[in-house]
Amino acid sequence: MPQGIPEEIIDEIRQRTDLVGLVGEYLKLERRGKNMVGLCPFHSEKTPSFSVSPEKQLFHCFGCGASGNAFSLIMQMEKLAFPEAARFLARRSGVNIPERRLILPAEDDLKEKIYKLNHLAARFYAYCLHKTEQGKGVLDYLLNRGIRQETIELFMLGYAPADWTGFFNFAQKKGASPDLMVKAGLVSPGRDKGYYDRFRGRLIFPIFNISGNVAGFGGRVLEEGEKSGPKYLNSPETLVFDKGSMLYGLNLAREEIRREKKAIVMEGYTDVITAFQAGIKNAVASLGTALSAEQGRLLRYQADTVVTAYDSDSAGEAATWRGLAILQASGCLVQIAELPEGSDPDSYIRENGPEAFNVLVEKSKPLMEYRLQQLKKRFDLASDKGRINYIEELMPFLMAAVNQVEQNFYLKRASEELGVDEEALLGELKKRRRKGSRYKETKKNEPPAEQKKINARPEEKNLLSLMLQSKEIAQLGRNLLNAEYIDDPQVRKVVEAIWSLSETETVLSAEKLINRFEDQEVVNLITEAVTDPALQDLPVKTAKRMVEDSVKRLHKVWKDSKLKDLKIKRENFEARGLHEQAMEIYLEEQSLISKKDGDPYR
Ligand SMILES: [Zn+2]
Repeated sequence: MPQGIPEEIIDEIRQRTDLVGLVGEYLKLERRGKNMVGLCPFHSEKTPSFSVSPEKQLFHCFGCGASGNAFSLIMQMEKLAFPEAARFLARRSGVNIPERRLILPAEDDLKEKIYKLNHLAARFYAYCLHKTEQGKGVLDYLLNRGIRQETIELFMLGYAPADWTGFFNFAQKKGASPDLMVKAGLVSPGRDKGYYDRFRGRLIFPIFNISGNVAGFGGRVLEEGEKSGPKYLNSPETLVFDKGSMLYGLNLAREEIRREKKAIVMEGYTDVITAFQAGIKNAVASLGTALSAEQGRLLRYQADTVVTAYDSDSAGEAATWRGLAILQASGCLVQIAELPEGSDPDSYIRENGPEAFNVLVEKSKPLMEYRLQQLKKRFDLASDKGRINYIEELMPFLMAAVNQVEQNFYLKRASEELGVDEEALLGELKKRRRKGSRYKETKKNEPPAEQKKINARPEEKNLLSLMLQSKEIAQLGRNLLNAEYIDDPQVRKVVEAIWSLSETETVLSAEKLINRFEDQEVVNLITEAVTDPALQDLPVKTAKRMVEDSVKRLHKVWKDSKLKDLKIKRENFEARGLHEQAMEIYLEEQSLISKKDGDPYR
């Protein structure tokens, strides 16, 4: 049983949480029959195999086997242990957990502390922006650029004062330890002694994770100079901040992205802010210039189309192309919006308005089309060297084509540009495919390692599923089955838990049963059993007969192995001339043989 939180509180959280709504915060779901389906967030796939049952409040992925209830989802999604996942859901559903009864594992406890400190820091920076002399200059700058007060508050923009220990002193007064501040990436230890603030004299952009916690910060200097350091500075990697797997603005844009099934990826924080304020609410920014594969995956859960709107002068980053090709290979339509030379979405929207920007997005070109154009500009196709380079850069994109039709289309186009035979290009493509695509994400090719499985026998799985259909069937199982027939101790525990629930609860629920177990393997086993489509909604009579059959088979297996053991024992006694003992075993064997398969145990 999950330690630390009283069961009635877990129960209350469970009752107040709708799994469909919760999953919907991470990915888009579509109705299919009784269930909702979507692209699995735990493995890479092109067609949805992630299924949520609104009725059972359980999810199950037929691709990778991930499964469970709302608690398991949060544990896996947010990488939290049970108590912290419970706390996460409690906050979301407005349930109060008595603080002192929570015992968190050390790492989760530290995460929680970092989030709290980050939140404090964000408030500190916001205060400095609005209430200090230095900050007021920055605030005026923002307002003059047309960023409205309510937008500044929504994005929680702030200002880090230019002195060395402004935040450090403040946080220390608030009781934060220097060690925690370092772990949160907010201060650094000085060379000799003491600590200094990481962000100084910068406009601050808090970076929220998908669940709305401040995970890290971006800081931008307003007056560039030698002393002021790099123009942009982000938080370092911390326990809660991983630059490559977060997108700026996603916490706000997520809903609109899912509604439109389209996301716009920009480069800068201010691009996203200006767009949002102008009513373009499906924009996010990668934290750095390149779009990582992980960020692409984050978008893929929610959008069918991703449009990039990068600054015209930096659109050539190799890493970005790699990220986009991976995104496209995962089945997402990737398009490139072209901005005029020297402008970015921020300046473009401010100068021309959101409608003009939307036109650019409408006119965006498919990734491949754009790439062909670019390569043609870059290489001299009249020279051999130019043509070789052209093919070299083009191939990975052809390999990442959405489908065969698209691939053929661009293959033809490229062969026309180059004036070479289509067959020759196709040959080159095939050769490379044999060697393996450069753009395949190696990580995704490994089997999803986290989903460990318990090897329950089919009869055992049937029993779990059937007994969870009603108390009556659970009781029947209890009368017929001897827990000893079940080999695996974990499966046995599940069966016993069903029996105990069938005595105390008015209605049996797999969702509730799951909360008695912390092992993901057990959760998977239960979910798999109850979402087995072959065993859904059976007439009571049929279900009862199946229980009887399953018990019979389990009994037979158990009996056979028991007889084998007894035989070995008996022969052992006989060999040693211990006839009396051998006789006793013999009688035991006979009594076992005389029992019919599936005879009630008690
Ligand atoms: Zn999956």
